[in-house]
Amino acid sequence: MAPRIMVFVEQDGGEIEESSLGVLTRAREVAERRGYEVYALLPTARHGPEEAKELGAYGAHVVVLARHEALDRYHSEAYAAAVAQAVEAYDPEVLLASATRNGRDLLARLAVRFRTGLMAHVIEFDVGDDGRLVGTVPGFGGSIAAVVKHVRGRPQMATVSPGAYQPARRWGPARVEELRPSIGGLRVRVLERRVGEARDISRAPRVVVAGMGAAQALDLVRELAELLGAELGVTRPLADAGLAPRDVQVGSTGVSLRSDLVLVLGASGAPHFVSGIREAGTVVSVNVDPEAPIREHSDYFAVADLNELLPILIRELRRRLGGGGGP
Ligand SMILES: Cc1cc2nc3c(=O)[nH]c(=O)nc-3n(C[C@H](O)[C@H](O)[C@H](O)COP(=O)(O)OP(=O)(O)OC[C@H]3O[C@@H](n4cnc5c(N)ncnc54)[C@H](O)[C@@H]3O)c2cc1C
Repeated sequence: MAPRIMVFVEQDGGEIEESSLGVLTRAREVAERRGYEVYALLPTARHGPEEAKELGAYGAHVVVLARHEALDRYHSEAYAAAVAQAVEAYDPEVLLASATRNGRDLLARLAVRFRTGLMAHVIEFDVGDDGRLVGTVPGFGGSIAAVVKHVRGRPQMATVSPGAYQPARRWGPARVEELRPSIGGLRVRVLERRVGEARDISRAPRVVVAGMGAAQALDLVRELAELLGAELGVTRPLADAGLAPRDVQVGSTGVSLRSDLVLVLGASGAPHFVSGIREAGTVVSVNVDPEAPIREHSDYFAVADLNELLPILIRELRRRLGGGGGP
């Protein structure tokens, strides 16, 4: 029997989380080189076998359909119970999830339960000749990308930065196996959800990222993003301060952008931030400091004070787009 890589495929109320599919695709690439089989684990209340087998296109050899009404939306305890039962039933060598809020929560719980190691938020992963999981983790706020190897415990686990791998439909339908997880005695009951809609900016064609140097001018940055048809992203201090939702934080503990164009406004270029724009196409940065480290990571770099530049830029764009906005 071929060793198994299991990928947790996240869904919410029936909608599949796209970054899980990127993990699935990468898992299949690794599996083909190493002679593994890829098991996509889909905890759900709504999906049936016909929909489940479609995950084969993204790389699953087998889809484990774990159906239970308690799994319609993410619930820490219910999901941990279902996924733990799947791990016990299928005994995978490797268990992976996208490092979404839910994926991070789930695998942290399971790492404790199985007394095994977890690499958090890897930006690359592979399985070595010795069968050990290897991941690249941006490290310690320094300019290093640490290559980490899993040495003890089973399954070998990692969460993968959303956007690190693109989903690709390259394979045929998967075989579907059903698992009826037993879920009971939940200590938490969700009465109401008030979280805003989660946004995935990792694949937006254009993103305007605001750093601390633009924190005072966030309304103008938003306006500029709108004019450019771009999504708004931020550096971590802005998300920490509650100025923007965590979903749009770019960097090693946020999302990795695969955008064609990223405009970085008032960010210094700390390594933890830069790891989130490594895979982007063209990077244009503006900073008041001519020596800001972001310069080294930009295709185009302009020295300017954003408080002065943004109103001019917006006015000029409005004029060119014919939207009024003054002379
Ligand atoms: C474990 C760990 C994980 C982390 N993960 C992330 C992450 O995912 N994402 C992330 O972003 N950070 C992350 N960080 C934080 C990271 O190390 C930096 O502290 C952060 O990226 C700095 O944000 P910034 O560039 O917006 O702010 P600052 O470093 O304060 O830079 C502000 C920049 O704005 C410029 N500026 C100021 N005023 C103006 C103006 N008027 N016009 C133009 N430019 C101006 C300044 O010259 C400066 O370069 C992490 C840190 C740790 C320890």
